[in-house]
Amino acid sequence: MTLSKTSHMLFRTCAPLALGLAAFTAPVALAQDGNGPAPDVTTQLPRSAVPSHYSIKIVPDAANLKFNAEATIDIELKQASKDIVFNAADLAFASASITAQGAKSATKGNVAVNAAAQTATVSFPAALKPGKYRLNFVYSGAISSQANGMFALDYKDGEGKDKRALFTQFEAPDARRFVPSWDEPSYKATFDLSTVVPAGQLAVSNMPVKSTAAQTDGSRLVTFGTTPKMSTYLLFLGMGELERMTTKAGAIEVGVITGKGNVKKAQLALDASAAILPYYNDYFGVPYPLPKLDNVAGPGQSQFFSAMENWGAIFTFERALLVDPKSTSEATRRRVYEIVAHEMAHQWFGDLVTMAWWDDLWLNEGFASWMATKVTDKMQPEWEMLLNRVDGREEAMGLDAYKTTHPVVQKIKTVDEVNQAFDAITYEKGEAVISMLESFAGEDVWRAGIRAYMKKHAYGNTVTSDLWSAVESAGATGLMTIAKDFTTQPGIPLVTVTNAQCSNGATTLSLTQSAFSRDDKGGKALSWHVPVKAQIVGGEQKQIILEGNGKITLQGCGTYVINAGQAGYFRSLYPATNVAGLVKDFSKLSSIDQAGVLADNWQLGLGGYQPMARALDLVDAVPSNASDKILASMIDYLLGAYNTFDGDDAGQKRVLTATSAKLAPVLTRVGYDAKAGEGPQVPLLRQGLIGALGEMGDPAVVAEARRRFAALAADPAALDEPLKYVWLNIVAKNADQATWDRLRTMANSAPSALDRAQLFALLGRARDEKLSGQALALALTDEPGKTTSAAIINAVSVDHSMQAVDFVLANRAKYEALIDVSARSRALARLAGGSADLAMVDKLNGFANQYLTPEARKPTDQAVAAIKARAETRTRIKPEITAWLDAKSGKAKPAKKK
Ligand SMILES: [Zn+2]
Repeated sequence: MTLSKTSHMLFRTCAPLALGLAAFTAPVALAQDGNGPAPDVTTQLPRSAVPSHYSIKIVPDAANLKFNAEATIDIELKQASKDIVFNAADLAFASASITAQGAKSATKGNVAVNAAAQTATVSFPAALKPGKYRLNFVYSGAISSQANGMFALDYKDGEGKDKRALFTQFEAPDARRFVPSWDEPSYKATFDLSTVVPAGQLAVSNMPVKSTAAQTDGSRLVTFGTTPKMSTYLLFLGMGELERMTTKAGAIEVGVITGKGNVKKAQLALDASAAILPYYNDYFGVPYPLPKLDNVAGPGQSQFFSAMENWGAIFTFERALLVDPKSTSEATRRRVYEIVAHEMAHQWFGDLVTMAWWDDLWLNEGFASWMATKVTDKMQPEWEMLLNRVDGREEAMGLDAYKTTHPVVQKIKTVDEVNQAFDAITYEKGEAVISMLESFAGEDVWRAGIRAYMKKHAYGNTVTSDLWSAVESAGATGLMTIAKDFTTQPGIPLVTVTNAQCSNGATTLSLTQSAFSRDDKGGKALSWHVPVKAQIVGGEQKQIILEGNGKITLQGCGTYVINAGQAGYFRSLYPATNVAGLVKDFSKLSSIDQAGVLADNWQLGLGGYQPMARALDLVDAVPSNASDKILASMIDYLLGAYNTFDGDDAGQKRVLTATSAKLAPVLTRVGYDAKAGEGPQVPLLRQGLIGALGEMGDPAVVAEARRRFAALAADPAALDEPLKYVWLNIVAKNADQATWDRLRTMANSAPSALDRAQLFALLGRARDEKLSGQALALALTDEPGKTTSAAIINAVSVDHSMQAVDFVLANRAKYEALIDVSARSRALARLAGGSADLAMVDKLNGFANQYLTPEARKPTDQAVAAIKARAETRTRIKPEITAWLDAKSGKAKPAKKK
């Protein structure tokens, strides 16, 4: 699955949990062949029955949001019993029966539902002997308006007509809303699915259509081919007025499916899929095992996820798949590529080989994220994707620096805990740790290990240690020890250089190890085996595994880095003299080390480990001819300094003045509009510049946005360009009532569902609280459409988190109907998470105490920790930033002190 991403523009993210050493006990005794959980793997079902095949017929009633169904399930009963327990949620049973293998007649059973446990028990008059049976259920279920189980997406087609399409979303535990099932990843089975499809509609599932039979009412009974053995959460069904475009990647048919009229906008995704498939076939060493691979675009959005890796039928919300040359930015185009790559990596890592239980979700998600970065870098080297790994590491450390964090491998018990497990630790720390381990093993040894792992566990289930065993066996001796420290322990190592001694042309660094924390500085530190790769800038790299404290000797003398290449998951704290050296030698660092040094020193300043001036000196040392990607990241730090002065207009104005001066030469070079022959990163830099200066209210940029918006009156196509929504965002943020009304009119007459959703969300961006209040009220009406309303409320929370939270608390039931069930425990925490107001802490805690179970309150606890730290940090660093600006404005040259 790909989460909705955090960022001020298009996407936003989520939040987490507790601990588990189980994965590092001896490798599991029994083979995990997908035939039910191994003895030491968690299950919420009795281990007495195991399914091998499902045959499911679904008759949807889209108009009334319900479906009728029949399921026939082949099971093996392992021990005598008159009761069989399975998963079911919100299903109503009309009949149940069982037939022993070879028997002629069926025995009727009674079904009792346990709604709280999301299980049901079918009971028979007498005990059944162990053996093979066929169960039959006739039942009905509900079609949701949010993405859990079978769900409906309502949208307007190209002609403005109201349409409804149906899709399914089963990860983590929602297949049970569609079919009575053993709905856990270790119960793998094959599936036959058939469904009744209305005239004029196209249906899609994991496998190609096997047969079609016309019905008397004009509909068709469509039957899909039998799937390979797989977990329930990967089953998929979609239908609607859809169209499909295909190409071939070797023998495999690769397709994209969209609403009618939109399929051309999926060309990028189709091309990416066809290019990536052969690379993965080779990398994993096992060819893609299904005859086709579709990527299905659904209109609308989820506050929780962007895409889902259903085997052979990836589902992606339109905003993360479609590219419209009239409005899609280069950043979004690259994100589309990356999401395609991520979901495709899951076709092997997750779908072919599946974690035994949700404890190891990180392995699925961390690996797919890591692989997506890797393949995108291979296919599009000019995008410099590996630099993004520093951003990912920072996102993970943003959660991992608090006491409320959790280890990558975590103990999952309840449904709420599964849903909360999809967080930045699982995805981004997972990716960072895998990158570190690949760097330790070497690219070739790592790949050999992955190939052996795929071959050995195909169609089965694994725990984390199975992967480490495979890579160690391929030659990466010692990998298990490092992997264990970083996956079973929470937190971030802090490696401090306490002394640097230069003698006889060599430098010896003394290193100590502790933990980097934003709310537990000096607390009890864990200990890691940290791969430290150090070098004198420009010199030879040397690696040691730091256990506790240690020394490393480098050739040469001068400025040094201890995380060269930035593959290590740790923070580097240098003496002031070396930071001064990094300022002086900044241009000599590799781009990835520039990114890493900026990030480390910024966070060390925020955390109070060193004065903010050191990070500010480094940001100021970024020359205007630095790589475009580094310039783009520098802008984020300047915006961070600006946000520190939230509520202090004079302070913000000073930061804006310094920022505008720093960025002026870059903006002059890059300009507001694309130029022929510009570099591959320029579009992203331009977006970053305009976006950040717009957020800060830079008068020239705001005026330009208004000028472009005004031009729409004479020419509706005046804003059709990749930065359309970047400009409109600035207009919306600075809107008055007339402008806001005009944006609303534009939203209602938007040319596509995607434009419509983006325009409605912009209404929530208004800086004027009266207008953001109007946006909140609008979100609870039918006007925006069911999946867009929550996005409006999210948009309000960016600048008015208290207003958004108060509104949601006052309208809790209505708000919860607008979001996925799986997002409920974290939705409020997400709206509040950017606040620096301690009054918010009481509101969040009050809500959690009243409405959340103890297991579901982790996102709240994390948001509270971040808000408290932000409040403390702002008070402390505001004077530091002001003093730095004073010192700088008193000099002609940038400060180079210490
Ligand atoms: Zn994923």
